[in-house]
Amino acid sequence: MTAVRWVTRAYGKKLERIGILTVADLLGYYPRRHEDFSQQTHVAWLQEGAKQTVRVRLERISMRPGFNRKGLVEAYLSDVTGRMKGMWFNQPWLLNQMHEGDEFTLSGKVTRQRGGAGLVMINPAFDSTGGASGLHTGRLVPLYRESQGITSKWLRKVIHEALPAAVGLRDELPPETASRHGLPPLSTAVREIHFPDSEEDLDRARRRIAFYQLVLMQVAVLVSRSERLRHTAPLVPYDVERARAIRDALPFTLTNAQRKAAHVIFTDMADARPMARLLQGDVGSGKTAVAAMAIAMVAAAGFQTLFMAPTELLAQQHARTLRPLLDRVGINMELLVGSTPASARRTVMAGLDSGFLDVVVGTHALIEDPVQPRALGLVIADEQHRFGVGQRELLARKGRAVDPQGLSMPHVLSMTATPIPRTLQLTLYGDLTVSVLDELPPGRQPVETRLVLPVERESAYEFVRQQAQRGRQAFVICPLVEDSDLVQVRSATSEYQRLQTDVFPDLRLALLHGRMKPRDKDGIMQAYRAGEYDILVSTSVVEVGVDVPNATVMMIEGAERFGLAQLHQFRGRVGRGSDRAYCLLCSDADQPDDNRRLLALVRYSSGFDLAEVDLQLRGPGDILGATGQQSGHDAGLMVAGLLDGRLIALAREEAERLIAGGIDRYPDLARAARGFHLPGSLS
Ligand code: ADP
Ligand code: MG
Repeated sequence: MTAVRWVTRAYGKKLERIGILTVADLLGYYPRRHEDFSQQTHVAWLQEGAKQTVRVRLERISMRPGFNRKGLVEAYLSDVTGRMKGMWFNQPWLLNQMHEGDEFTLSGKVTRQRGGAGLVMINPAFDSTGGASGLHTGRLVPLYRESQGITSKWLRKVIHEALPAAVGLRDELPPETASRHGLPPLSTAVREIHFPDSEEDLDRARRRIAFYQLVLMQVAVLVSRSERLRHTAPLVPYDVERARAIRDALPFTLTNAQRKAAHVIFTDMADARPMARLLQGDVGSGKTAVAAMAIAMVAAAGFQTLFMAPTELLAQQHARTLRPLLDRVGINMELLVGSTPASARRTVMAGLDSGFLDVVVGTHALIEDPVQPRALGLVIADEQHRFGVGQRELLARKGRAVDPQGLSMPHVLSMTATPIPRTLQLTLYGDLTVSVLDELPPGRQPVETRLVLPVERESAYEFVRQQAQRGRQAFVICPLVEDSDLVQVRSATSEYQRLQTDVFPDLRLALLHGRMKPRDKDGIMQAYRAGEYDILVSTSVVEVGVDVPNATVMMIEGAERFGLAQLHQFRGRVGRGSDRAYCLLCSDADQPDDNRRLLALVRYSSGFDLAEVDLQLRGPGDILGATGQQSGHDAGLMVAGLLDGRLIALAREEAERLIAGGIDRYPDLARAARGFHLPGSLS
């Protein structure tokens, strides 16, 4: 990477941290969106409030001291039609970069100075007009996801520098495919997706890249399905008497949705082919109970289950929920996580090996572990899990004990609380059948949700105090300052200190964040659950899924920075007991748009309604990202493609054509498709 100009060793490290290891990765770091600075004008014609570009001469530049230590840089600028000012905060180095008499193009929003004096651009982007064409001004300017101290401005420079390498990119889409659909070559699309000359170019580039991803996805789905259908699965007979017994052992009456889901799962597992089902249901809809029934049925047929959660805390939570349900039907369950002591681990292994244990709950590492169950019948994967081919092979190997010829694979049940748009179900989840729990257990009260504006902050704290005085507990989630874990830890830590010292000196507070050791996290959670703390201050990275029935308040700081889906998840942490529960959304936003999203949360309590609203308010851009399924920069593009029905149909046709002729003829494509992770799908 350091071969690219501007990429120093230090920057190379930063790039690595966001997954950019090669020039190809860099070129594949597509912009989130573009800022339209293409409107060029003269100073006299500048319009207040609009984004525009002007070409000006620098007459005088100076730093106004005393503003703060880093200062305010002021530049007096002019063209033949008039004068204006540019102002930059906290960028003292500009004094060395901009010289009086030089010409610049400036892009930004124009405002009128206080007192109506003159026009000014605050923190405008600029290019010196001496050298190359503008990267930051006067065009459709790419904006990238910023993190790890890497800015859009820097990325623009570096990616532009690397663009000539685009002709060398390996194009996995066969050339005849691209030409058949009148799509530009990859190198053109890459160039235009970063630095398009027009909206049309940008659109064409996006379609080209989205189409490729859709084809890849469809090839992966089709290959996957045919692989799955080549396998057999442990036969779990659907014994109606047994199903009744399992149901009657539960401490509550099933909802209709739960009954239906259990029924189709039982039916799937009675088939000789491996089940690939996704159980989708809002927080609290009772997915774990459905999972428990599946486990019981599998155990009754003499097979074992591995139940995998994304984090230790969640695995522990599941074990806690499952144990009372499974105990009643005489099923042996154990927990196996990273922090399990060696001796206990050996016992679990032995129990799996001998067949004594019916089910082991653990993190997703379970599947990489040398754990070899005697007779694996079912794998349950909770939330955010994607099976790549590697893991699929591991699973098949784990299933081998059932069938010495190695043809057997376990049934797979994936569970998610995130509503998935229909188009996604049909494409990305193409090989999964979906069951939906669209009903909450009876008697559940919706969580009362309120928007808290800055002026109402004190009364919100007062409310938390009252709840604590009544013996209830509260969560305080700290704002998502930026992508960086470390920064979030810092902000949660200081918020915790502030709340403990200044706001709630009389209450017992605890702090939880993602950088703590699993054992410490668990200690804090247990103490909180036991009522030893009144308030748990936590980062947003803290695992969802914790179940503390006595917690009645979920207070979210900087709520406007979170996505609706995540806010909904947080809210689902309270209201699990019989008391009325509250969600306080603290917003610092002055943008009505941001608060409009929060108001949707105030208004709707169902995740499905919210998903709809989300799609309308935000557009498709972030939905996939929010599901956590496809992290990274191309998620938005992919979704753009996923909402384009015609493009999907074309991609499916193309994938079928490619596969019909033997996918081996396209080794690059086959390899890429194999690396494509299909969420929750196993085969
Ligand atoms: P999910 O995993 O879908 O968020 P859980 O399975 O953890 O939900 O269930 C949430 C809570 O509701 C648990 O305490 C569970 O025991 C309870 N529960 C599940 N199904 C029912 C039901 N049919 N009636 C009453 N309570 C239920
Ligand atoms: Mg759950």
